Amino acid sequence: MSNCIFCKIANHEIPGKIIYEDDKCIAFLDLSQVTNGHTLVIPKTHAANFLEVDDEVLTHMTLVTKALANKIKDALQASGINILTNAGEIAGQTVMHFHFHIIPRFNENDGFIVNFEKRLDDIDLDDLLNKLK
Ligand code: 5GP
Ligand code: ZN
Repeated sequence: MSNCIFCKIANHEIPGKIIYEDDKCIAFLDLSQVTNGHTLVIPKTHAANFLEVDDEVLTHMTLVTKALANKIKDALQASGINILTNAGEIAGQTVMHFHFHIIPRFNENDGFIVNFEKRLDDIDLDDLLNKLK
């Protein structure tokens, strides 16, 4: 039996506040809400993160996440939504079972901060282009 906490929620071995479920994925409220309505969407089959999840499952989950994000936005009258996923410890991943975060946004002080303001000024874009194209 898996020791993964999200596998246990997906298998109904431990309770979750489930807002959506189908044969491939399940969505439930995050236990500690970053903003009101913070929801996680996870595959039922264990995958470590976004980089490793099965393509077909990911495609399905993306559509489910879009539908749920719209539903949550309307139900809670949010002004916007952040959809994000952390892959790897350095990126902030704490539960090593792939999940999309759906984070409804209400105002600048609603509890969630994304900081795109500090930028690196020593990156060679042409060097990057050569490595990545
Ligand atoms: P990560 O940091 O891996 O991107 O996000 C993991 C999320 O899972 C966190 O936001 C955390 O609050 C949530 N979480 C951890 N354990 C549980 C749990 O047992 N139940 C629920 N509903 N959420 C959990
Ligand atoms: Zn798992």
